[in-house]
Amino acid sequence: MKDSDPRIQQAAGLLAESRAAVAFTGAGISTPSGIPDFRSPETGLWARLEAAGADETQTGMIQSFGHDPQTFYERMRPLFEKIITAEPNAAHYALAELEAKGYIRAVITQNADMLHQRAGSKNVIEVHGTLAEATCISCYLVAPFRPLLEKFLEDGRTPRCEKCGGAMKPNVILTGEQLPMQAVLAAKQAMRGSDVVLVAGTSLAGGPATALMDVAYLQGSKLIIVNQTPTIMDASAEAVIHMDVVVALPAIAEIL
Ligand SMILES: [Zn+2]
Repeated sequence: MKDSDPRIQQAAGLLAESRAAVAFTGAGISTPSGIPDFRSPETGLWARLEAAGADETQTGMIQSFGHDPQTFYERMRPLFEKIITAEPNAAHYALAELEAKGYIRAVITQNADMLHQRAGSKNVIEVHGTLAEATCISCYLVAPFRPLLEKFLEDGRTPRCEKCGGAMKPNVILTGEQLPMQAVLAAKQAMRGSDVVLVAGTSLAGGPATALMDVAYLQGSKLIIVNQTPTIMDASAEAVIHMDVVVALPAIAEIL
């Protein structure tokens, strides 16, 4: 791609020179697959869920799930319907290709939608949990979530534990819950060992994003940022690409 955008060339050059690059992704990498950013104020879904939790208990969603899992499932239905039909997009595939070719070591993601894995990424660290599995809130039995979700979308009833009948909660992090400790530690370790961090589809605001990026920045990792809108780390980045991830990431992968 001899006449590609110089910023794309620059990003590809940084990855080519790196020894230990990692990717860090957020909701913006899955919005082209039709999954809304459910934490964003624009879609409002997360805000409505938060409000519902606060009304009931003043302490957050995890408590309200325990009291009334049916309401949680009903409110999440629009998002679940989108997630179950979503397919990985060109940005997911580009990151899988970069990993397969040895340019990145891991994908740290704030998403729980499994699209990185379905695109072929092998080392995926999910810092907000995953929709691959669900856990019984009574006996902690763990089961694959997809069959439970398919049944819920059919019959509209809260998925129940096959052992004790307790409500099954998808292993995504709800407000009021601890982040998954092992995943966060693995993410910190990956950031600590990195020399380049390729940020894609996240504004880097809030949650574990700030802390993880601090780890990378403080030890001198070079940052490549691919996001439609400015992020809080733009000023600290080597390469900033305000483009759609489905255009920019495949273009970077094509050069390498
Ligand atoms: Zn159970």
